[in-house]
Amino acid sequence: MARECRTRRGGRLLIVANRLPVRPVPEAGRIAIQRSVGGLVSALGPLAERIGASWIGWDEGLGDLWRRLAPSRRGVFPFLVSPVRLAAPLREPYYNGFCNATLWPLLHSFLGRTEFNGDWFAAYASANRAFAARVRATARPRDTIWIHDYHLMLVPRMLREAGVRSRILFFLHIPFPSADLFQHLPWRTEILAGLASADAVGVQGPEHVRHLREALDRFLPRGPAAGVASASRPAVRAVPISIDTVRLSRLARSPDVLRRAQSVRDSFHGRHVVLSVERLDYSKGIAERLRAIDLLLETRRDLRGRVSFLQLSVPSREGVRSYDRYRREIDEMVGRINGRFSRPEWVPIRYLFRSLPEAELLAYYRAADVALVTPLKDGMNLVAKEYIAARGGKDGALVLSEFAGSARELRGALLVNPHSAHHVAGAIHAAMEMPAAERRTRMAGMYRHLLRHTVHDWVRKCLAS
Ligand code: UDP
Repeated sequence: MARECRTRRGGRLLIVANRLPVRPVPEAGRIAIQRSVGGLVSALGPLAERIGASWIGWDEGLGDLWRRLAPSRRGVFPFLVSPVRLAAPLREPYYNGFCNATLWPLLHSFLGRTEFNGDWFAAYASANRAFAARVRATARPRDTIWIHDYHLMLVPRMLREAGVRSRILFFLHIPFPSADLFQHLPWRTEILAGLASADAVGVQGPEHVRHLREALDRFLPRGPAAGVASASRPAVRAVPISIDTVRLSRLARSPDVLRRAQSVRDSFHGRHVVLSVERLDYSKGIAERLRAIDLLLETRRDLRGRVSFLQLSVPSREGVRSYDRYRREIDEMVGRINGRFSRPEWVPIRYLFRSLPEAELLAYYRAADVALVTPLKDGMNLVAKEYIAARGGKDGALVLSEFAGSARELRGALLVNPHSAHHVAGAIHAAMEMPAAERRTRMAGMYRHLLRHTVHDWVRKCLAS
C-alpha cells in the first residue's frame, strides 16, 4: 500500500485531474497499464509517487481493469489511483465538446474557433458532478484537495455546496483570457462561481491573475446574483509551473540517451538540426511555423541542404473535427515544402507523428542545434524548459514565441512573434549563425534559472498558498 502524504494541516493530499497518471493500453493480446504522457503527468507524477498522494481522475476505460488488477501489480504505481467513471453519453460532449471545443479555444483567446453549445455545458456540469461526488466520498476535513485545470472548474463550488470543509486549491494550467473575451462565454458566471469557491487559485503568470480578478469583479458580483449564491473571493496567485531540472539533465547525460542522440545526429550528416516538439494543436502555431520555414528556404538559397527541420507532432484530440482538419492541413503543408525543396540527398522537413518515450525525446533534444518553439498562445510550454535542461546549459539555442508563458522566464531565448513569418525565419537564421560563446552564455543563464525554479518549488508554493 502506498504511503499517504501528510500536508501541513496533517491531512492527506488529494490530486484531482481529468487524466489519471496511468492508462490502459493493448499489449500482446491483453491490456496492460502504462504511465500516461503529457505535461501534468510529467509535473505531478513524480510528486505523487514520492509522497503517495491519492489521484482522482477519469477512468477512460481503466476502472474495471484497475479493479480486476491484482493489488501486487497495482503497486507498480506507488500512489492511490481512484478512477471516476463517466456515463458513455457524457464523454464526447464533456471532453471533446465543452472542454476542448469551448474552453480550450476561448481560454487561449481563439474566439473564432470557440463553439458554444448548451448541451455540452450540461454534460460538463454532469461530469464535474461525478468528480465532485468521488472527491466528497474520499475527502476528510484536514485533507488538501488540489484540483487541476479547465476540465474541472465547477468542482470547487460543488464540493462547498455538498458541505466539504477541506482546503481546496485550484490550478489553471492554461491561460485565462482578458475579461472582454471571457465575457463571450454564456456560462461565465457558473465557471467563475466554481473557481471562487476554492481557497486559492494558481495561474501561470501575472497577466492571468489580472484577467481573472477583473472577470470575477465584473461578472460575479458579490451577493446573490442571477441565481448564483453569494461568492467569496479566492486568493489568486501566479505560480509558474516548471520541470525536474536535475532529473532531466542527469537522464539526458545517461549512456543510453547519448548513444541515441549520436545516432540521430549521424542520420542528419552534419547538417544543422532545428527541432520542434508539441501536441498537434492549433494553439502551438505549427502552420505559422511551416510558413516561416518555407519563407526561409525560399529566400536563403544557401541554407538549402544545410539545415534540417525535425517536426515531432504528438497525436492529440483525434476525432475532434477541428483537430482532424488541422492535421490534414499540416500534412499538406509539410508535403508541399518537401516537394518544393527536396533534393536527392536532402529532405528539408523530417516529420514524425507519434508520441515518444522520455529517453527518445531527450535524445532529440540533445541532438538539436536549435529548438524552435512558436506557440500562438501557451500557458507555459514545458518543452522549451526541457530542451534547456537536456542540454545541461552547455550549448544549443532556443527560438521562443513571446506568447508562451515560459518566455517570461527564459530571457536567453530569441523571442519571436509567431504570426510573422519574416520574424521567425530571421530568428532561425540568427540562431544557426550565433557564435558558440554566445550560445553557451545564453543557455547557461537559462539553465541556472531552471535549477533555481523547479517543479518541486512549484509544488511547494502551490501547497503553501
Ligand atoms: N511529451 C511526451 N512525449 C512526447 C512529446 C512530449 O511525454 O512524445 C511531453 C513533454 O516532455 C512535455 C509535455 O509532453 O512534458 C508537453 O508539455 P507542454 O507544456 O510543452 O505542452 P502541453 O502538451 O501541456 O500543451
